[in-house]
Amino acid sequence: MIIDAHTHLEPLADYQGEAHAAYGMATVGLQTYLRQFEENGVDACFTFMRMGLHLESRIPESNDGLARARDSAPDRVYPWGTVHPAWPEKKLRSEIRRIAKVLGFHGLKFVPIVQGYPMSAVGMDIVAEEAIDLELPVTSHDGSPEYCSAIQIAYYARKYPKLRVISAHGGLRELWPDMIDAAKELANLWICLSGPTQWAIQTLYDKLGPKKLLFGSDGGLGHPAITTAYLRRIERLEAPKEHKEMILGGNALNFIKGRGA
Ligand SMILES: [Zn+2]
Repeated sequence: MIIDAHTHLEPLADYQGEAHAAYGMATVGLQTYLRQFEENGVDACFTFMRMGLHLESRIPESNDGLARARDSAPDRVYPWGTVHPAWPEKKLRSEIRRIAKVLGFHGLKFVPIVQGYPMSAVGMDIVAEEAIDLELPVTSHDGSPEYCSAIQIAYYARKYPKLRVISAHGGLRELWPDMIDAAKELANLWICLSGPTQWAIQTLYDKLGPKKLLFGSDGGLGHPAITTAYLRRIERLEAPKEHKEMILGGNALNFIKGRGA
C-alpha cells in the first residue's frame, strides 16, 4: 500500500486547469489527479487544497470541495482541511470542529509562508487546543525561513506534546538537518519526505529509523513526474524492504482515522 502523504487537489472549479501567473502551477480536476497517482502506483493520498491556502475567504468552500472529492473516491482521497489562524476565535474553532465532526477529515494542513502568519500566532494555539481535543493531526509546510523554518515546526510540536505534528517538507533541501535532533526528542513529530535530497533522506533514515518518516511528493500541483521522482528516492534508499513499506504507506496509515490511529 503506497500512500502519498503530501498532495494537492484544487477543489474550486474556477481555478481548475489554469496555470496562474503568480504561482506558475497548473491544477487538475479530480479524475486527472486520480489517474496521475494511479499511473505512479500510488494507492491513496493525503489531499490538501490549493488556492484556498492563498485565498482565506474561500477556505470553507474549499474544505467542502475536498469532502466532495473524498465522497467520489473514498479509498483514495484522504482530505486534510485548513482554517486561517487570523480568523476570529469563534469562527476558527467552529470551522475546525466542522472539519473534524461534519466533514470527517483526517487532519489540518497549514502553509504559514503563504497564509501569512507565524507558527507562534495566537491562532495557532487555538488550532492546537482544538486539534488535540478532536484528535486531528496537523501538517505544516516547513523549510521556509519566513514563519515556518523546520525548527519553528519543531517548537510547535514541543509546545504541544499531545498534538501530532507532521513537517510537510522535512525542512526542504537546506533545513532538514534541524529535523534530526527534534524528531529524536519529540515523540509527536513526524517528517514527510517531500523536499530533502536523496542523501538527506538517507541521512534522516540512518539517524531516525523508519518510524518517523512518510513518503510524500507534493504531487497534484504540476507535472506528475514529481511523484515518480520522490518514489524513486524511497526505492533507492538503503534500507530493508519492511522499512521502506513503513515509509511508503505503513506510517501514513496510522494517521487515517478509523484505522486504529
Ligand atoms: Zn504542498
